[in-house]
Amino acid sequence: MEDESIRINEISDCRQRAIICKEPNLNSSQIFKSICNTIINYPHLTKHEKKYLINDLIRIRDAQNVIENTGERRKCEYCNNQVIAITYCESCIRDYLERDFSKWTAGRSYILKNLKNSRTTDEKWLKNDKQAM
Ligand SMILES: [Zn+2]
Repeated sequence: MEDESIRINEISDCRQRAIICKEPNLNSSQIFKSICNTIINYPHLTKHEKKYLINDLIRIRDAQNVIENTGERRKCEYCNNQVIAITYCESCIRDYLERDFSKWTAGRSYILKNLKNSRTTDEKWLKNDKQAM
């Protein structure tokens, strides 16, 4: 069985090296691919650690692209909308949250208020939510 432990210091070193070593004059998608290639070719991480690091970077990239409403779009296989995130569908999540509005408690009223107002201003809500975390 493959060792699934994570060496945080080695992962951090690899992340730093990948970010520093990216090629110049690339767009954001090319930069991301360059960083992933550096990680894949980095000899001091296990396969599991490389997968962990790349998944972590994908999650960060998804959040950044959804907040900034940038990046390549894909068609969600469930809702058929054009969406940005790779690891989830922001449209399906939005629909799921809106369906359960009636179950939300008063303690989450600030989220509800922001979400209701977010139908046309998704970026604003996401930025406010990020600041609240
Ligand atoms: Zn969807």
